[in-house]
Amino acid sequence: MDENRVIIFDTTLRDGEQSPGASMSVDDKVALALQLERLNVDVIEAGFPISSDVQFEGVKLVAAKVRKPTICGLARCIDQDIDRAAAALERAARPRIHTFIATSKIHMDKKFRKSEAEILEMAIKSVTRARGYVDDVEFSPEDSARTGKEFLFRIIEAAISAGATTINVPDTVGYSNPEEFGQLIREIFERVPNMRKAILSVHCHNDLGLAVANTLAAIRNGAQQAEVTINGIGERAGNCSLEEVVMALKTRESFYRKHTAIKTDEIVKTSRMVSKVTGMIVQPNKAIVGANAFAHEAGIHQDAMLKDRTTYEIMTPESVGWGDTKIVLGRHSGRHGLKSRLQDLGYNLGKEDLDKVYERFLKIADKKKEVFDADLEALVGDEIQDFSEAFMLEYFHILSGDKVLPTATIALKHKDTIIQDASVGDGPVDAAFKAIDKIINSPVKLIDYSLQALTGGKEAMGEVHVTIANNGRKFVGRGASTDVIEASIRAYLHAHNRLLHAGSKSESEH
Ligand SMILES: [Zn+2]
Repeated sequence: MDENRVIIFDTTLRDGEQSPGASMSVDDKVALALQLERLNVDVIEAGFPISSDVQFEGVKLVAAKVRKPTICGLARCIDQDIDRAAAALERAARPRIHTFIATSKIHMDKKFRKSEAEILEMAIKSVTRARGYVDDVEFSPEDSARTGKEFLFRIIEAAISAGATTINVPDTVGYSNPEEFGQLIREIFERVPNMRKAILSVHCHNDLGLAVANTLAAIRNGAQQAEVTINGIGERAGNCSLEEVVMALKTRESFYRKHTAIKTDEIVKTSRMVSKVTGMIVQPNKAIVGANAFAHEAGIHQDAMLKDRTTYEIMTPESVGWGDTKIVLGRHSGRHGLKSRLQDLGYNLGKEDLDKVYERFLKIADKKKEVFDADLEALVGDEIQDFSEAFMLEYFHILSGDKVLPTATIALKHKDTIIQDASVGDGPVDAAFKAIDKIINSPVKLIDYSLQALTGGKEAMGEVHVTIANNGRKFVGRGASTDVIEASIRAYLHAHNRLLHAGSKSESEH
């Protein structure tokens, strides 16, 4: 590979999934991994196999189905972790085991109560064990940015001697700054004699909003791999965002003199998918993928833009996949028009699924003259479930106003029978959720609710995300409709169905 190419290691499925409330099902992970493959990332960190059965299954299925990128599984420097990661990666075309251990004084003293010598030995032993399974082994001294430099250089050298092919330097707590972090990377190259025998990677967190800046500083100082997530999701304030690093390198290539293999016009689609699956909405002013990232509001800017786009545009919206949103479908577009537009968007639906989406499409087209790509994607997300739904919405009736007690009547279809119930509530959505709870009779707590307009105008489609909790497990549901109450009901039902699906799955496993 050419030396100016930066390897993009995507950890949306592992670190991104550690965002509070963002847990993904195995099916979500496979769908996202396939999209990451279309985006052309080099490495996908698919999960932490020892941590749970779902994590193990997720890595295993991604490894079996996604063939082009390297698939990576995380493991602590513990034998069972490495064995489990290797087992999950058995069917991978290009497997990588990523093993890590904390090396900062504060972590060694407080977390492990182990000495430097003991930590060093665990690292060597684990890298050696991992190399017994695969040729591609990554080692991370966790909390590198706060690790004593002499020890950091020593453990990196030892890990490379033991067979590590990539050394990852994480700023685990987002503590560093660009000058300091760039300097650290430079020193590693200077002070670790065998550093050139491995790839140097960085993994930055965003606690001070510096993850992207720190990553770019590291690349300027020779780092060859960047660990990133879509939309910058991840633990706490998140990780370095893939889209920002990739577009910084591309837009300023004459400055950085580096490039990636990312197909940048797949970025927006990937961002939307991650947002849907996790229920984490992208802020409108977010660089590259925010709804306003390419919107020019000031009249003086608009005027200049009409004369020449480059006056205020450093990259084009098309280059990151903001499709031509003027393409719209209406009632007259027909099944064929819908099918071909969905194909353009990357959805190849079978007849049954297409029928379902078409039926909803006609209803939406009745209410809304123009149906946009974002509306279609929401419909597909709504209608195409990768599991059979235990309860389906048959109808709902809402009574609401400022002088009446909000009341909802809901009918759900469950195994060929229609079950109906009604409830009052603080508002129409609350009443509807209570009626659903009565029918499904599985205790949950609503912990998050958000509503977003997908497209402009009065008849805009609204997309609702809800998060429910049951016995410490969280499930995200989403629903879309031109009617916000219907979108809410669909989202709540989706979350319930996911919970029921997960419940029955773990029962059959044991
Ligand atoms: Zn991390």
